[in-house]
Amino acid sequence: PVLRVAMMGLGSYANRVADAMKSCVKAKIVGVVSGTPEKITDWQDRFGIPGKNCYTYENFDSLKSNPDIDAVYITTPNSLHRPYAVRVAAAGKHVISEKPMAVNAADGQLMIDACKKAGVKLLVGYRLHFEARTLEVVRMRQAGEFGKIRFFQGLSGFRIGDPTQWRLNKQLAGGGSMMDIGVYSINGARYMLGEDPIWVTAQETKTDPVKFKAGIDETIQFQLGFPSGAVASCLSTYNMNNLDRFFLTGEKGFAEMVPSTGYGPLKGKTHKGELTSPHITHQTQQMEQFAGILLEGKSAPIPVDGEEGLKDLKIIDAIYEAVKTGEKVMLKL
Ligand code: NAD
Repeated sequence: PVLRVAMMGLGSYANRVADAMKSCVKAKIVGVVSGTPEKITDWQDRFGIPGKNCYTYENFDSLKSNPDIDAVYITTPNSLHRPYAVRVAAAGKHVISEKPMAVNAADGQLMIDACKKAGVKLLVGYRLHFEARTLEVVRMRQAGEFGKIRFFQGLSGFRIGDPTQWRLNKQLAGGGSMMDIGVYSINGARYMLGEDPIWVTAQETKTDPVKFKAGIDETIQFQLGFPSGAVASCLSTYNMNNLDRFFLTGEKGFAEMVPSTGYGPLKGKTHKGELTSPHITHQTQQMEQFAGILLEGKSAPIPVDGEEGLKDLKIIDAIYEAVKTGEKVMLKL
C-alpha cells in the first residue's frame, strides 16, 4: 500500500518535503490544502494532483468524504498546527505535524486527545529520528560504547533575516528561536542521552529588542538534568551563525556531530572514528518510514508520535518559566 498524503501550507518546507517524496516508493503527494489559488494550480501541475483533492482552509473538513487521502501533513506556521490538526483528525485523516508540534504543552495535549478520539494517528516530522549517522551514535550509546554518559552539549542557531516573517511574530510562531531551532537541541539531548530530563534552568539574552519583540526569544541558554545524573548544556539563538553541533561524552568515549541537525549530509566522529553511514535525503527517508508506521503499524527507531512531541513542548514551557522566574523548574514527562 502507498501512503496518500495531502500537504497543508505550501511554503518552503512543504516544497522540500514534496520534492523529496518524489523518490518515495511507499508515500505519495495526492492532495493539497492552501489559501492561495495560484499555489494550488502550480502544485497540481507539478505533482499531477486532481482537482477533487484540492482544498482551502475553509473547506478542508470535507476531507471526511474523500476516500483517496490517508494523511494530511501540516507545514503551516507553528501556532496553526493545533487548530488544523484537530480539524484534520475530525475529518478522519492521520495527522503529520511539523515541529514544534504546537506552541505549548496544552495545545499539544489537545492534538493528542483529538487524534485519539478520532481513531487516527499523530506523527511529528522528527526527520533525524531516522537519520543513519544519528542512529549510529544512538546504537553505540545503547551498546555501552561510551560508558556511563555524563554530558551533552547542543548548539542550535542561525541569524534570522527578514524582520516581518512569521517566525518573528509571536501570534504565529508561539515564541522565538526556542520554538524553531532550540527544539532541535531539546529533542537531541533526549535521543542522544536516551533519557528524559527531570529539571531545567535557563537564561535569556536579548541584544535587539526591536527585531525580537516581547515573547520572541533571541538567545536562550538552558541546562537539563537527567535521572542518571547526566547534564545537558544547550544554546538556542536567532542571532549567531554556524551553530549546529551535538557533543556527547561518557566515561569511555564521546561522539561529536557537526552539523548535527541540518539537511545533511550530517557529519560526525566518535572516539572510534568517523561516522560513515550513507546519507539519504531526510525527508524521503522520513516519509517512507511514516508510511510503514501509518499503514503497517511499524514502529520508529526513536518515537515520532504525539507523546514524543508533547515531551519537547513540556520542556519548552519549563524553559520559558525558568527564564521568567530565574528558578530551577522540575519536570515530569
Ligand atoms: P513558510 O513560511 O515557508 O511556509 C508556511 C506556509 O504556511 C506558507 O505557504 C503560508 O502561506 C502558509 N500559511 C497558512 N496559513 C498562514 C497564516 N495564517 N499566516 C502565515 N502563513 C500561513 O514556513 P516553513 O519554513 O515552510 O515552515 C513551516 C513549518 O515547518 C513550521 O512549523 C516549521 O517549524 C516547520 N519546518 C520544519 C523543518 C524541518 O526540518 N523539520 C524545516 C523547516 C520548517
